[in-house]
Amino acid sequence: MQNPSTVVDKLYRPLHDLRVSVTDRCNFRCVYCMPKSVFNKDYKFLNRDEILSWDHIVDVVKAAAPLGVRKVRLTGGEPLIRNDLEELIDRIVSVDGITDISMTTNAALLTRKRAESLNQAGLKRINVSLDAMDDKTFRAMNDMNVDVSSVLTGIDNAVAAGIENVKVNMVVKKGLNDHSILPMAQHFHGTNQTLRFIEFMDVGNSNAWDLTDVVTSQQIADAINQELPIEPVEANYRGEVAKRWRYVDGGGEIGIISSVSDPFCGDCSRARLSATGSIYTCLFASEGHDLRSVLEKNDAQLLENHLKRIWQVREDRYSETRTQVVTLRPKVEMSFIGG
Ligand code: SAM
Ligand code: SF4
Ligand code: SF4
Repeated sequence: MQNPSTVVDKLYRPLHDLRVSVTDRCNFRCVYCMPKSVFNKDYKFLNRDEILSWDHIVDVVKAAAPLGVRKVRLTGGEPLIRNDLEELIDRIVSVDGITDISMTTNAALLTRKRAESLNQAGLKRINVSLDAMDDKTFRAMNDMNVDVSSVLTGIDNAVAAGIENVKVNMVVKKGLNDHSILPMAQHFHGTNQTLRFIEFMDVGNSNAWDLTDVVTSQQIADAINQELPIEPVEANYRGEVAKRWRYVDGGGEIGIISSVSDPFCGDCSRARLSATGSIYTCLFASEGHDLRSVLEKNDAQLLENHLKRIWQVREDRYSETRTQVVTLRPKVEMSFIGG
């Protein structure tokens, strides 16, 4: 039976996941996310005092759990830039109702020591972003001269530290790294790390997105299937973002996230908390709902009610309507609210 305080939005979608952006800064300048033309020395990143404190983040998680949130994902910007993440993880893990805490990271800063302390704090799952297997392509994607080996070492460190579940995310942009689809599949085939391909999305206003730059999930599946035959697998649960495929030869699974060619808004149960303390009910929203003023009142029930109302009036389904809406309206940057 559903808990009486759990909430659904106008399209009857529950609130199940909360993504928390812990910083808007990053050590990469991925061309599809934080291109150097915009995120350069003139860009005004948030000041320390504009960033939500751990106390306030934990308050939001505590208010969200009774409404139905079970999963919390830490993201950014690059979350590993924050050197006290362990404390936040430790506190979120002990919130009643939260059964899953994970992090999305580029893993370049994931030393063995850091992975161990994160694991000890309660982090059992990470998603690592990696967009190519060769340095030339990967450097062209991250635009900071970071080599593939830094990320692979980060993944090894996570596994060695006991972080059991490591997934790898690859954003595919036509003409830039689509030739890396197969090498990536071959590298992770037969390992415990599930590779997930993400269609290049029109998040934010900076990445010069164009539909012609999107390699569709079908094209991705076809490219892999020619060399490594795959077959579809049933979804694990309602709202699973990635469509699952398995290698016919038993070499494990891959996922493909087709937010452009086959949107999944109907099952979208995610809210995002920005680094400044605003709730975004859609990745493509122009504006968030400010929670900071409510948080400062230090009234847990007020915060829960506020969050509930925000979710109850939600009717976002941007990806299903992107071709009909005016896409020129401003959208929040992904590095600000997290992927
Ligand atoms: N810095 C961390 C990382 O890269 O994993 C966490 C934040 S990043 C914004 C979260 C995820 O969003 C990454 O997997 C990234 O590849 C994805 N992402 C960023 N911009 C994207 C875009 N335009 N289209 C699709 N995915 C994107
Ligand atoms: Fe940084 Fe992640 Fe965005 Fe790349 S995708 S620029 S690593 S926040
Ligand atoms: Fe959810 Fe918005 Fe993405 Fe649709 S477009 S799946 S509502 S975040």
